[in-house]
Amino acid sequence: MRAHVVTFGCQMNEYDTHAIQSELAGIGYSFVDDYREADLVLVNTCAVRGKPVEKAQTLLGELRKEKQRRRGAMTVGLMGCLAQLPEGRRMGEKFAVDIMLGPGAITEIVPAIERGKFQSFDFKNELQFYTPPPPRDAVSAHLTIMRGCNHRCTYCIVPQTRGPEVSRPVEDILNEARLLAAASVAEVTLLGQNVNSYGLADGIGTRRKQLAGYPSFAELLRMVGRVGIPRVRFVTSHPVNFDDEIIEAIADTPAVCRFIHLPVQSGSNRILKRMAREYTREFYLDRVRRLREMLPDATISTDIIAGFPGETEEDFEETLSLYREVRYDAAYMFIYSEREGTPAQVHFEDVPRAVKTERLGRLVELQKEVSFEQNQQWVGREVEVLVKGAADEAGFVQGHTRGNHVTIIKGNLAPGIHHTTVVQATPNRLYCEAAGVESQGPALARRELRVISLPII
Ligand code: SAM
Ligand code: SF4
Repeated sequence: MRAHVVTFGCQMNEYDTHAIQSELAGIGYSFVDDYREADLVLVNTCAVRGKPVEKAQTLLGELRKEKQRRRGAMTVGLMGCLAQLPEGRRMGEKFAVDIMLGPGAITEIVPAIERGKFQSFDFKNELQFYTPPPPRDAVSAHLTIMRGCNHRCTYCIVPQTRGPEVSRPVEDILNEARLLAAASVAEVTLLGQNVNSYGLADGIGTRRKQLAGYPSFAELLRMVGRVGIPRVRFVTSHPVNFDDEIIEAIADTPAVCRFIHLPVQSGSNRILKRMAREYTREFYLDRVRRLREMLPDATISTDIIAGFPGETEEDFEETLSLYREVRYDAAYMFIYSEREGTPAQVHFEDVPRAVKTERLGRLVELQKEVSFEQNQQWVGREVEVLVKGAADEAGFVQGHTRGNHVTIIKGNLAPGIHHTTVVQATPNRLYCEAAGVESQGPALARRELRVISLPII
């Protein structure tokens, strides 16, 4: 039996795909790279923006044709966030999908295959957390610590697709971390929609109580940091619960990387309120100030939405000015994408596409300029790089620093941690030299400057 699994979207989906593949391997499936050779094709979807939804739809169309060609002798499954929504269920019917499983029901994959046509959209809390075997020969791994989201950002579909926050029991997390350490994984990324809501009781805001039997996120960082994995990272942090205790835990725990992804979304208080983000520009900047004070060498990245409904030129200018003030090392930037059933779609009018695109263009230009200046500061310094494998350019390997800078190194270094020196920086990369290997960074850097592209979906 041969299976092909396609993954769209975030790291949580990648982690879920790994869990799905482990379950399938357990009942005898092997994996193929081409759906034309598979008996079972699973599409693990993302519904956060329109683009990944369109991609899933195109793929489902191709799969329907392939299934017709084989006179039905093929099983197709639609999983992940899209499967949880009316939009996805309509799509499932249209493309004659056999299995539909929402993101809270992924561990039902084996019974679903055994039963043939099958649907499940319940959030099975006890099943949501799953300890997959450590990925084979991998230097880095993901580890889910919580699922779901209690916030109600008006643009976002996630609370509908992933349900309310549920924290994973701490012993399960530590057991999985120990398995990864025993498998010599060099880096673990703790995953959650809002990792810093870990262990907090129901509700939102800054005054949430700690659940009995759960450590705080800061305490959890210290615990995972002691397990023996050289690098511990975490995404994503919500600004409203990003307290000083967490910053102190990062500062005190050598294994925890000093890299913080802190999505701001907008620099305008008026728009933050319309987005229901629960913080102001001033609150956010205060968190950044504390971070800079306590962790001066930390790198900070963010998410920004350009062209949210009602965003004026003045509002957008405030986002640009906040960007300049924080001096982010990196950013994921999106144009606002209307999602069916979200409060913003129901109550607000979309900004014309041309306006959104033009603003995104200006934001990307600013990002390149600031990232270039930030990255220049690393030239001549020693950085630890986790090499993951060959780079696109022959004779080079690619990895990332503890601060999450994408790094290119000349030579044939084995996957794992290496100590290098930065010889050149561009907006999106650091070119490094390992001892005894001469770098060709400058030539590469010139080429890269012409082809910079950012992961905008
Ligand atoms: N929970 C994280 C937070 O609030 O900081 C973010 C998780 S969300 C899945 C990832 C990013 O997608 C968000 O930070 C936001 O920038 C973007 N996003 C979500 N909904 C969007 C929409 N409707 N249009 C454009 N971008 C969106
Ligand atoms: Fe979406 Fe907001 Fe929850 Fe993040 S905090 S997942 S943006 S609703």
